[in-house]
Amino acid sequence: MSMKIQMVDLMGQYDKIKDEIDKNIIKSIRSGKLINGPIVTEFSNNLSKFLDVDYVIPCANGTDALQIAFMSLGLKKGDEIICPAWTYVATAEAAAILGLTPILCDVDVSTFNLTADYIEPFITKKTKAIVPVHLYGQSCDMESIMNLAKKYNLYVIEDNAQAIGCKYTFSDDSKKFTGTIGDIGTTSFYPSKNLGAYGDGGAIFTNNPDLAHKIKLIANHGQNKKYHHNLIGCNSRLDSIQAEILNVKLKYLNQYNNSRNLMANKYDENLNVIDEIKIPSRTHNSTHVFHQYTITVKERNKLQDYLNSFGIPTMIYYPIPLYKQKAFSCFYPKGFSLTNTEFLSENVISLPIHTEFQNSNQDFIIEKLKNFYK
Ligand SMILES: *Cc1c(COP(=O)(O)O)cnc(C)c1O
Repeated sequence: MSMKIQMVDLMGQYDKIKDEIDKNIIKSIRSGKLINGPIVTEFSNNLSKFLDVDYVIPCANGTDALQIAFMSLGLKKGDEIICPAWTYVATAEAAAILGLTPILCDVDVSTFNLTADYIEPFITKKTKAIVPVHLYGQSCDMESIMNLAKKYNLYVIEDNAQAIGCKYTFSDDSKKFTGTIGDIGTTSFYPSKNLGAYGDGGAIFTNNPDLAHKIKLIANHGQNKKYHHNLIGCNSRLDSIQAEILNVKLKYLNQYNNSRNLMANKYDENLNVIDEIKIPSRTHNSTHVFHQYTITVKERNKLQDYLNSFGIPTMIYYPIPLYKQKAFSCFYPKGFSLTNTEFLSENVISLPIHTEFQNSNQDFIIEKLKNFYK
């Protein structure tokens, strides 16, 4: 008998670290410092050590992290930022809400990530920043993107919400964690992310002390001292309970990412032999933390129904390209279309992957995939 298959198993993960989590949550409540308490600073310091980045500024969620990053760079109404069309809505939304224009560019069909070649034709005099998203847990080719940004004098803000713990290798063999390569990196601690809280949370990374200072002010009402407001900011804080949880989970992040890789390897080996399935490609210069295991398939919708009939959940990340979303229709003329993004929206499907998977469940999923294409 197999257990119920889930896309993510947060409760199974919790059961293994329950004692430590529960104890720390109670400690946090008893401390009376519920927002931005000392544990928030402790977690920031631990994450900054883990990622080898000078500043980690926690905030309320990953969307705020992007918005605060844009605000700290002093970007103005009408400035253009280039981001992938193939991403979660937050990347473009955080720009649009500030009056910036999100210019959507296409992505590579095999890595799902934008590349310098796709970005360059979209650069205009108004372009101020590039926002690479390390989608599904693998790094964009940051070296070529950083070179492009240098050539045109653009900021780089990495949306690292899906790739925390992923490492990129430069051509000189030096390595950096994604999110610490550009001017600013952002992440989300949404519960299902690789480093997830039990509520909302996010963070902003930078090695630039001036930006770090500005980001800290902006995330806290522009205050440098209580009731002294230097800048128009916002209210975006991480609460102490979430910081306690994240501080525990950070210790297991490598282990969690390894478990995801074991599952991905097994999917790779077994699905690679099926002609109708294209497994996610791995690039030579990045590790992968498999936030999602996403395959490109024939007859996607039929396959989804078929798997569903056996109790196998799947997800489509993402069913509608950003330029086809009603909310973004003011930015893109009717009929605007990007070939690869269009193709992916019709052909990708993400399979269950998480840290608590039973081998027998994965065997079951693989068997059903084989049967479907028999
Ligand atoms: C989850 C996610 C976000 C937003 O994070 P929230 O914490 O939900 O606001 C932004 N970008 C990407 C790529 C994401 O996957």
